[in-house]
Amino acid sequence: MAEKISTTIEDYLSLLYISERDGEPVSGARLADLLGVSAPTVTNTLKRMKRDGLVEIDEAHLPKLTKNGDESARSVLRRHMLAEWMLIRLLSWSKVHQEAHDFEHSISDDVEAALIEELNQPETCPHGNPLPGYEAAVADWIPLTQVKVGQQVTIRRIHELAEEIPGLLSYLEENEIEPGQVVQVSDILVFNQTVTLDVKGKPVTLGFSIARQIFVEI
Ligand SMILES: [Zn+2]
Ligand SMILES: [Zn+2]
Repeated sequence: MAEKISTTIEDYLSLLYISERDGEPVSGARLADLLGVSAPTVTNTLKRMKRDGLVEIDEAHLPKLTKNGDESARSVLRRHMLAEWMLIRLLSWSKVHQEAHDFEHSISDDVEAALIEELNQPETCPHGNPLPGYEAAVADWIPLTQVKVGQQVTIRRIHELAEEIPGLLSYLEENEIEPGQVVQVSDILVFNQTVTLDVKGKPVTLGFSIARQIFVEI
């Protein structure tokens, strides 16, 4: 990276990357929502990013990463995920995302390369999200909302956007809904928008909006 990008811009870059990867382009309003800032703040930041050649605004007024922006975003996300792996030696998996958020911005190219080697080129973060370029590693996992009642599945992934929801990861950890855990879907109430899981004999109910962000392997 020629010029050091600010932490604010790095946060925008990762969110834009994730939404484009998932084929769900975000508006400025949605970005404001996700980042917990005002719409005018987002507009101003996007203008700066456009000036710096990181995004362009398409005909639908949606921000899109340029080639440069995409490259920077991949680098930010990769460093975030590597920081999570580094921190998981010290902290529980529900805590590393938030901590890595502060940490990722100070990982140099040398540290990044050393971490990749030390960690044996991980394909996902500790929450099961793919490192940029390794999307195929998670392609077969389906959202919990697509599982049928009675099916036994292994939790594999908690989506990046769910990692951001305050309190969610610690709730999931307390209830042992974590990557590698085998659970059974015991009930789905469409009118109530809930999925109930049997987690080691204990029922845990999740709303559809959260269940949609948890990916499993059948
Ligand atoms: Zn994370
Ligand atoms: Zn993660």
